[in-house]
Amino acid sequence: MIDYSSFTKLSYGLYIITTEYDGEKVGYAGNTGFQVTAEPETIAVSCNKDNYTSEFIHKSKKFSLSVLQKDLDVTMVGDFGFKSGRDTDKFKHYDYKMGELEIPIVTENCVAAFECKVVNEVDCGTHILFIGEVVSAEKLSDEEPLTYAYYHEHYKMRSPKNAPTYIPPEKLEEENSKESAPENKEEKSEENVEGSEQDTEGPSDYVCIICGYTYDPEIGEPSMDIPPGAPFEDLPEDFTCPICGASKEYFKEV
Ligand code: FE
Repeated sequence: MIDYSSFTKLSYGLYIITTEYDGEKVGYAGNTGFQVTAEPETIAVSCNKDNYTSEFIHKSKKFSLSVLQKDLDVTMVGDFGFKSGRDTDKFKHYDYKMGELEIPIVTENCVAAFECKVVNEVDCGTHILFIGEVVSAEKLSDEEPLTYAYYHEHYKMRSPKNAPTYIPPEKLEEENSKESAPENKEEKSEENVEGSEQDTEGPSDYVCIICGYTYDPEIGEPSMDIPPGAPFEDLPEDFTCPICGASKEYFKEV
């Protein structure tokens, strides 16, 4: 028997993993990065075969891993985690520097960075586990590192489908429906009380079904110069999710 909610109890951080091959810089945001051995210092990352970056690490035989900080602009996670390097230059808007291995190391919103030479690759079906020997390591700041739990809870972001830890929502819903209903009912009824007030007073929130970003009309979207008070329905047709870039059709009314 597999209880899928058990997997959500595993702890992780969140990292920007990059490489460069043939003059092209690529990278993605991923939670599965961890130290494998202390001597020599090795770090592994699990990379989906569909990730554009995966093929590049396979060819370049090197990668960098930057540790994201707790307080950050999540647009960065959206850009690195939910968009593809096939059609986006992810490095255009964020600070990075070139490392000893001549690959980009993202420094913005990051507390530490490592550069690794790939010493082994393990084919894990959907993913490749790249094991790299650390060539350089640098602490970038004293900020607290981001945990995956905080990322989910505080920023309300979901895992992209390519993440090794992705669990289809229907599998978790099955588990949730089996769990004790009374507590959930109480919580929901409180939410409903608050929600019903809002329903009668103003326009609804809309949620991006790709990444979980919520558009709250009371706040608007400052990063896109959308002022408070603008209902979702009135946003321009070319409005896209500020986190993952999904168009309006991917938003659902809350
Ligand atoms: Fe989104």
